[in-house]
Amino acid sequence: MNNGYLFDIKEFATNDGPGIRLTVFLKGCPLRCLWCHNPEGLSFIPQFNNMMNRIVGKEYSSEQLARHILNFEDVFSLSQGGVTFSGGEALAQSDFLFETALKLPNVHKLLDTSGFASNKIFEKALTIFDLIFFDIKLADDVLHKKYTGVSNKLILQNLQILSKSSLPYNIRIPLIPDITDTKENLDAIAQIIDNLKNLPIQIDLLSYNVLAGGKYSSYNMNFKLKNENNCVNIENVENFISKFENLAIFHKE
Ligand code: SF4
Repeated sequence: MNNGYLFDIKEFATNDGPGIRLTVFLKGCPLRCLWCHNPEGLSFIPQFNNMMNRIVGKEYSSEQLARHILNFEDVFSLSQGGVTFSGGEALAQSDFLFETALKLPNVHKLLDTSGFASNKIFEKALTIFDLIFFDIKLADDVLHKKYTGVSNKLILQNLQILSKSSLPYNIRIPLIPDITDTKENLDAIAQIIDNLKNLPIQIDLLSYNVLAGGKYSSYNMNFKLKNENNCVNIENVENFISKFENLAIFHKE
């Protein structure tokens, strides 16, 4: 049996997929996006939060977590909801994640992922989950490395794998002023989406959370995004949206 670490479980979530959901946040992420608003999701081990004066991060066995999720089965079936696995990067604890998800055959399972995982792990995820939320942050690999700490090659390969599968998916683009909301980046992402075999069911544009840096000091961590500009470039975003007239676009403020 595999154990894993979570840093939060959000009950009755209404913005993390269809219906009413339980969102499970797995601890640990191999990326270091400068704008990340979940500093407690970066490290794989529990951390002390000096504002709350407690340790954040709890170990669960797959059995324990599955049992907890199943407590909400009635809510899921009444609302056509389910469980959303997020992070951190949930695929970074793939053994624990898959073992837990496989114990939930009758629950709708959504994976919210950066797409950064080996092709083998990603392909296996596609056999287990019902819906994927897949991030595209930066199309240019040099900028991707600069702002997230990793290359986007694996991510774009996994996006191809996803679009060739029959699984429904949303693409999610974080709109970070002067970084991801530039005309060059949004044009390049539009091109990537346009070339996919099967299009996503929806594109989610996620606005930057200006309070993102606030939590870092409580974990003795530094928020490294030195961005004076908090305003997303509306012209670039509207230009992007205009390219996808036949696709649902959700702009989350
Ligand atoms: S992929 Fe998500 S959790 Fe990981 S660093 Fe980036 S924003 Fe944070």
